[in-house]
Amino acid sequence: MATNGKRAQAEVPREGGYLPRFGLDQGPITEVHAFWLAGMSCDGCSIAAVGAKHPTVEQLISGTIPGLPKVVLHHPVLSVTAGERFMKAYHDAKNGKLGAPYVVIQEGSVADEDIAGAFGGYWSAMGANHETGQPIPTAHWLRDLAPGAAAVIAVGTCATWGGIPAATGNLTNSMSVMDYLGKDYLSTLGLPPVNVPGCAPLGDNITETVASVLMFLAGVGPLPEFDELGRPAWMFQSTVHRGCVRAGNYEEGKFADEYGQKECLVELGCWGPVVQCNMVSRGAIGHQGGCMNTGGICIGCTMPGFPDAFAPFYKKPPGTLVSSTISRQTGSFVSYLRKFTQRKGNKTTRWLEDNAVPSGWANVDGNTPTADKVVGFFYEKIKNMGTEFTPGSARQKELQKSASRFLEKGPQQDIAAE
Ligand code: SF4
Ligand code: SF4
Repeated sequence: MATNGKRAQAEVPREGGYLPRFGLDQGPITEVHAFWLAGMSCDGCSIAAVGAKHPTVEQLISGTIPGLPKVVLHHPVLSVTAGERFMKAYHDAKNGKLGAPYVVIQEGSVADEDIAGAFGGYWSAMGANHETGQPIPTAHWLRDLAPGAAAVIAVGTCATWGGIPAATGNLTNSMSVMDYLGKDYLSTLGLPPVNVPGCAPLGDNITETVASVLMFLAGVGPLPEFDELGRPAWMFQSTVHRGCVRAGNYEEGKFADEYGQKECLVELGCWGPVVQCNMVSRGAIGHQGGCMNTGGICIGCTMPGFPDAFAPFYKKPPGTLVSSTISRQTGSFVSYLRKFTQRKGNKTTRWLEDNAVPSGWANVDGNTPTADKVVGFFYEKIKNMGTEFTPGSARQKELQKSASRFLEKGPQQDIAAE
């Protein structure tokens, strides 16, 4: 079996026979089917996906992105067909009759259908068995469609790690897609499940990941970089804290003690310093919104340990006792130094010399306090130290001499000399 993404026509072993595998060396791919499965979910990931802007779902399904195959989306809520007409493509893919490559996108965790089945029921299902008329659990659709899929993409924390349905005490034995398919699962492209976590995930994270995988599938882009847990590395390698709009407050030891304040929210229970997520730097929709941008704490919803590792959400993380205490102590001094530099940076050289600011907008104190003058003396020394602009340096003396000569001679003499 080739490993460079180009595979010859082959057969995928599965329960009850062999499923034809679509050969990627059979010509340019112009269409890719996307089968959306909803397991133990709230449909929040679907809502997030349709809010995506870069790219939009509309761009994906209309095939307007250059180089990208058109996506034929089969979605239980968004598709306009229903009933048997809607389910036909799922059955065709399962039976190896689709005749086109496809990806599986799973939202929601995978429940243990044996538990519900023992009582004659199911946890989540879609379509009906043609012989028995019984609902087909979505877990079984995943089991049957995954072997022939070019890629299996788990969206949302329930699908990627198990999420809330898999939290301690759950009765459904719910699990993630990677738990369900197992460590040895590989798609026809040779990929383990791709994971886009978040509760709900960023819509752009979903559509951008789908687009990146499709570009690779179409042979117009490299395989995107995934981390050790199958997350798109460029989205999840950094912590929320690093991109947080409030991180400067944390550094200066300024913390909110109730919601609605503009300072860092760590003492209200924010887990941002340890959580890998790009929500705040990317914004929820169209670079707007996102947890701390809109005043909310980070509860670690992208992380495999969510929710148990971060609950109770109303208590501050224990590590805060150390880190925010240190920030408070060092931050007050850092904050003073920054205010001093800011005051200086807000005045022109002329205003500093005149001790006055000619602003008609408000009364600005032009006087420089004595403490600032003392700090400023050393500040200037340190700022220019080691550069040719150090006051009194050879370079400065040379410049002053040439300026004096110029003034003595006068500009007219220079022009005449030319
Ligand atoms: S609000 Fe959270 S993520 Fe933002 S700076 Fe504070 S601790 Fe870090
Ligand atoms: S910032 Fe935290 S709570 Fe918000 S989406 Fe990211 S991980 Fe979830």
